[in-house]
Amino acid sequence: MTASYRFHGDLPNLLRRRWREFSPVMQEVTRSASIKDVLESFGLPHTEVGEILCNGLPVDFSWPVAEGQVFDILPVLPPWDVRSPSLLRPAPLSAVRFLADANVGRLARYLRLAGFDTLYDWRWDDDRIVAAVGRENRIVLSRDLGLLKRKQIDFGRCIRATEPAAQLREVLGLLGLAGEMHPFSRCLECNSPLQPVAKEAVLHRLEPLTKKYYDNFSRCPGCDRIYWPGSHREKMELLLGKRALP
Ligand SMILES: [Zn+2]
Repeated sequence: MTASYRFHGDLPNLLRRRWREFSPVMQEVTRSASIKDVLESFGLPHTEVGEILCNGLPVDFSWPVAEGQVFDILPVLPPWDVRSPSLLRPAPLSAVRFLADANVGRLARYLRLAGFDTLYDWRWDDDRIVAAVGRENRIVLSRDLGLLKRKQIDFGRCIRATEPAAQLREVLGLLGLAGEMHPFSRCLECNSPLQPVAKEAVLHRLEPLTKKYYDNFSRCPGCDRIYWPGSHREKMELLLGKRALP
């Protein structure tokens, strides 16, 4: 009267502690439940699952679990193309956009530094985050497994790395985004796309050395901050190494 579940890659680390030692995990089939419900009862958020095989054949999250079935649960593998439909996520994203939870705030700034649209507000609780992705679907980045189990979230990632620069590399690697970075293009504070502005128009706001060494400036239409290549580029080089830059 049981079904069995084999968790691949690093997925065992995300299971509730009492299930981590077992491979495969055997569990009694007691009621009609979908594979998604069962996976989440083991502690695994649906956002971390890239493919589900039932007796070797791909199935979706709504698949009803029955006795004797053998499931292979595979992680999301790079490069994860969120802009194409898949069996588990038939409605793809129109663009790569992120929403970062309060527990990965530095990562949010680093993603903006790399030019990626990233909503972040440390005051937002889980309900605010879920409401925001309901209005505009985004990839939710978090270290909170409970948040990532929320059914309104289609795309998400439990960030494995602990250090912010490593977290950025984790996200860029997972989604294959190294070639889509646009440093200097987005405001670090408010996420607005920057607009070019003539040096003469901002001259009175520049420090003497900035005035002397830089000629190209951008302004944030959201919060009026001024940016120039030096203000972003040095930080990007620190984070990713010079060769990562175009
Ligand atoms: Zn701004």
